[in-house]
Amino acid sequence: MCGIVGYVGKQKAASIILEGLKRLEYRGYDSAGLCILQGGQLDVAKKAGRVEVLVKEAARHRFNGTTGIGHTRWATHGGVTDANAHPHISSDGKFALIHNGVIENYAQMKTFLAGKGYTFKSETDTEVLCNLIAYHYAKEPSDSNGTSRFLESVRKALEHVEGTYGIAVLCVDFPGEMVAAREASPLLLGVGDGEYIVASDASALINRTQNVVYLKDGELVYVTAAGFTITTLGQADVSPVVDRITWSIADAERGSHAHFMEKEIFEQPVALENTMRGRFSEDGSTANFGGLNLSAPELRQIDRFMFCACGSAWHACLVAEHLIERYARLPVEVDYASEFRYRNSPLDRNTLFFVMSQSGETIDTLAALREAKRKGYRVLAINNVVGSSIAREADGGVYQHVGPEIGVASTKAFTSQLLLGAMLALYIARLRDMSFNDGVQYVNALKGAPDLVRQALGQAAHIQAIAKRYARYADFLFLGRLSLFPIALEGALKLKEISYIHAEGYPAAEMKHGPIALISEKCPSVFFVPKGEIFNKIVSSMQEIKARKGKIIAIVTEGCELPAGLADEVIPIPDCHEAVLPIVATVPVQLLSYYIAVVLKCDVDKPRNLAKSVTVE
Ligand code: GLU
Repeated sequence: MCGIVGYVGKQKAASIILEGLKRLEYRGYDSAGLCILQGGQLDVAKKAGRVEVLVKEAARHRFNGTTGIGHTRWATHGGVTDANAHPHISSDGKFALIHNGVIENYAQMKTFLAGKGYTFKSETDTEVLCNLIAYHYAKEPSDSNGTSRFLESVRKALEHVEGTYGIAVLCVDFPGEMVAAREASPLLLGVGDGEYIVASDASALINRTQNVVYLKDGELVYVTAAGFTITTLGQADVSPVVDRITWSIADAERGSHAHFMEKEIFEQPVALENTMRGRFSEDGSTANFGGLNLSAPELRQIDRFMFCACGSAWHACLVAEHLIERYARLPVEVDYASEFRYRNSPLDRNTLFFVMSQSGETIDTLAALREAKRKGYRVLAINNVVGSSIAREADGGVYQHVGPEIGVASTKAFTSQLLLGAMLALYIARLRDMSFNDGVQYVNALKGAPDLVRQALGQAAHIQAIAKRYARYADFLFLGRLSLFPIALEGALKLKEISYIHAEGYPAAEMKHGPIALISEKCPSVFFVPKGEIFNKIVSSMQEIKARKGKIIAIVTEGCELPAGLADEVIPIPDCHEAVLPIVATVPVQLLSYYIAVVLKCDVDKPRNLAKSVTVE
């Protein structure tokens, strides 16, 4: 996944790059490095470990130059070592390169380049690309026809690349200049006051400028003292569009919270308000989704939905499935994006295809979108990051508007995806046979969601106390039914991700078809126990666990009476409409996982082996 930053300007580059890397660290934290072009040399500091390790290492260098690049790595090719850390330097010492992505044909290139005398210090695919640029540079005649030899060497090398990249390159012969390019990895250019910053995402440059140009696949940007130019791999000129970022530096900072995850959990009421803002009809009976770019008659033609996503977003799609089927009475299929892209699923002409991704850069989801488009489908997206690849390639969609989510484990982005799924179910249902009165009731329920989430957050101290008692268990089951089954999956995923405790989510009644074998006093179960038609069935499942000495943490709708002694711990949640219930029920499992991870002293915001925005396949 990796985070990349490059700076060309008048200020000392190193501190600006290190600051940017700290903000990009959620994208990868195996190693970090930077290279400053100064005194006609490429001066590199790089180390395995976090950005804070690099900061110490950088302090030993005299970094005064005003041009530089930096990287925080999520290893794909080669172990987590100093040598494999980026930037990489070509063996002739001319080029420095940082890279986010995978060069799939690196092995053939490496053999070719080794035959030409190029040598390698790392096991990475990235170093191969760096030497390939050097190879083309050595072959290029000096600058001719007004084109830069530096830019053309990068372009030539990229013509041979199969795979994905967001790169930034420096060349010793071109001080004060930088080339950056992208193919399927995110990259944007910040246009500041006499300075330019390229980065994987806006959080790395928002403290210096809010004016950005989102690069598209197959584009290269060349930054020089005279400004910047964008061209395609095929040498066509591109007129840049400068966008303005609407959020501010405060949104990307932790404030008084111990972790970004905690901040983002507690931000949820406001995040939900932002997601809903301006999205209900004037008569208060339905949602407004102008961004879908589909008219009411077109939407009435739809007879099936297909959703593709990964991770938590996939769980949000499962909830959307439940609500669309229940309220809009249309069949819905949900698939993992990584499976859909290869399994050649037959789609009917009247299927409406949706993808969901917080970052809008998830490579499997992007590939699913492209596969559906290739098959001739109109693809819509639910996505948080404005200007992301998915947002740009989709035919329409809805932004989540929850601001940057930095914690690797998704929280506010997930509940906002649940909310948008519920609003979509309403929107389609009202175009079909949901009555005006039911629509008004549904809308009012959704409008009440932020306050209900505030109430659920009021249980934080109680949940923290439970977390202390349960943090040392090695296995957990999360059990729920209907729209809360995906929340059981999400609860298990949260616990696994940030506390490394084994956890499984299951439909509560399926438990007896296998997972019940795990039950003993050593494996607690977290049950979702909502009011309603299946309350008694869930209580029976709980009895089956209790009969086998399993401990039970029950998340129970207020007003439900559980048999005395059945649950070891009870976490109340407010009673609410079915469309809002999954959102409210998510809060206790977020808090439980968070506090358990804190008790275990885990690195909550940067869990091992993970990174946010999964841009590798
Ligand atoms: N393939 C490069 C490496 O392993 C970059 C990895 C990435 O972008 O995640 O160093």
